[in-house]
Amino acid sequence: MSAFDSFPLGQPAFVTNILDRAAHLRGNDEKLLALESQPNSRAYVVHRDSLVVKREAGGARALLAIDEALKFGANPGTIFLGLRDGAAVFGMGISATAAEKLLTREDVAVTELRGMAMQGLVPPDQLSAIAMAKSMVSWHQRHGFCANCGTRTAMKEGGWKRECPNCKAEHFPRTDPVVIMLVTSGEKCLLGRQKHFPPGMYSCLAGFVEAAETIEDAVRREIFEESGIRCTDVSYYMTQPWPYPSSLMIGCAARATSEDIVVDRSELEDARWFDRDEARLMITRKHPDGLAGPHPFAIAHHLLGRWVHGGAT
Ligand SMILES: [Zn+2]
Repeated sequence: MSAFDSFPLGQPAFVTNILDRAAHLRGNDEKLLALESQPNSRAYVVHRDSLVVKREAGGARALLAIDEALKFGANPGTIFLGLRDGAAVFGMGISATAAEKLLTREDVAVTELRGMAMQGLVPPDQLSAIAMAKSMVSWHQRHGFCANCGTRTAMKEGGWKRECPNCKAEHFPRTDPVVIMLVTSGEKCLLGRQKHFPPGMYSCLAGFVEAAETIEDAVRREIFEESGIRCTDVSYYMTQPWPYPSSLMIGCAARATSEDIVVDRSELEDARWFDRDEARLMITRKHPDGLAGPHPFAIAHHLLGRWVHGGAT
């Protein structure tokens, strides 16, 4: 299956969630414990940017039985992600030491999630649930102490809250909004490249939304800061959860009101205008100079693809 089949236009990775979040069960500790010991319950085990998978004849299996996950060395604390066909699905972390031990086994792999997803080794419809596991495990690992008084906090609500036993402060998993946008000027679009991109790759510009800032202002500000271009008519397209570690990419389009680019070299290696035909060749990986657009895994590909096919400007 090609990347274009796995992620057709309008469906980047992490947007199709097969789980019923069943939030009404989160406060019921007894029920969650009972679900954890049900034979049909499953878990995704994540370690940093990697996923623990069982190697089988048919390919890699990401959903592990709870016993299986524990035998692999996963941490016993589970995060309730939801129900799939009535069966509970949990997220689990694993220590670096336990993950390292797995590297010697032939029947298990600890593999970087993005690479697996891009190669179609994980079913696209499971990526959103895996993203939930990844973001939540990462949040618990980095937020073990109360930001208010410094006391170690305790996991509550099936992992969807941490509570401080000392000052009673409640802490909730965070999601960081990021704007990502395709700016166009007639038949041209603005793309940039960061130093760490593969050679020849260009993508949409992006940046974090700041405190007390609207999405529209964030789009205009980021575009001006990174490229010196002024823009207007900001419109919303779609969002993509981005579990690195817990962002929400807000895909937008905007119309440029100026064309002279001044690249902020601290953010970008280059930024330039591309015409629609060139952009088409880039996203289909057929550009004669080897230039390429973003992978269909990412929302940037879909922002660009929509415009290439005559969509919003
Ligand atoms: Zn506290």
